[in-house]
Amino acid sequence: MKRFLSDFQTLFFPNTCCLCTKGRLRQEPFICSACLLELPRELNYRGKSNNTTNRIRGMFPFERGFSFLRFNKGGSVQKLLHLVKYQRKPDLGLQLGRWFASETLCWLDSTIDFIVPVPLHRERFKERGYNQCLEIARGISQITGHDVLEVLKRERATETQTHLSRWDRFENTLNEFVLTNPRIISNKKILLLDDIITTGATMTGSAVPLVNGGAVLYIAAIALTQDT
Ligand SMILES: [Zn+2]
Repeated sequence: MKRFLSDFQTLFFPNTCCLCTKGRLRQEPFICSACLLELPRELNYRGKSNNTTNRIRGMFPFERGFSFLRFNKGGSVQKLLHLVKYQRKPDLGLQLGRWFASETLCWLDSTIDFIVPVPLHRERFKERGYNQCLEIARGISQITGHDVLEVLKRERATETQTHLSRWDRFENTLNEFVLTNPRIISNKKILLLDDIITTGATMTGSAVPLVNGGAVLYIAAIALTQDT
């Protein structure tokens, strides 16, 4: 009987939710609708001033900035990003981009020319097999129709930076990124996309060559940490 019930359940709930591990429907990708609803959102993405812009204001010029979710240590957003980055789930990255775009990007300037994902260093890319930011960017693009442009290159692998001071992280990151095709971004509106904003160092490192190349920047991330 137990076996029968389990088979019966599998018929309707062939997969389990990545967060609560209960059954989810076929039309619920990766997580169940209840968990999707409960993800902690950064709500103030409409205004020019919000938690994301406050975090990076003064580091480089940009038009607007916003993040989709709130990242808390040990929370559901950390779990999702961990799955995307370290558990070989690039499709979840794509789906995060789709959720992000569906909920927030209607507030973004529709005249954006390109989405530029923060790149991985070649070595890190080899290890992981994909760049999670590129997958997220592709998910956004599926909803908004914006073109994704891989125009940044990361020159050296960043060692884990958690033990470094905020200033040391900045110094480490500022010279990592170079433009591979400066001409294509001149006078273009670019949505620069990272998976997570912590201190803003990675965002600044990748933003500076774009700004120097004449791009107008918009900043977006899937998640913003709540404490730096
Ligand atoms: Zn769930």
